[in-house]
Amino acid sequence: MALVNMMERFVDEKLDDMLRFENCCKCERCIEDMKAIALNKLPAKYVSTHNGELFSKLDSTIRQNTVDLNIAVAAAIEAVAKNPSHK
Ligand SMILES: [Zn+2]
Repeated sequence: MALVNMMERFVDEKLDDMLRFENCCKCERCIEDMKAIALNKLPAKYVSTHNGELFSKLDSTIRQNTVDLNIAVAAAIEAVAKNPSHK
């Protein structure tokens, strides 16, 4: 059994989605930075992965909260695009 922060998965998905329409740097380093910034603004949602029922219940709860997710991810992309941590 392992603990997974579901919010990480949602941020990953959302980043993938939103970055398709952005012209900023999309290297591993920038994406990690964006992920960290977005995750720091969002509540962690840990689930134990052996419990499929809890997984799907939480999944729909968080998906109803997509406004916060969109805002946090959009802000993270903007922050890193303006000021990447590399040249
Ligand atoms: Zn980069």
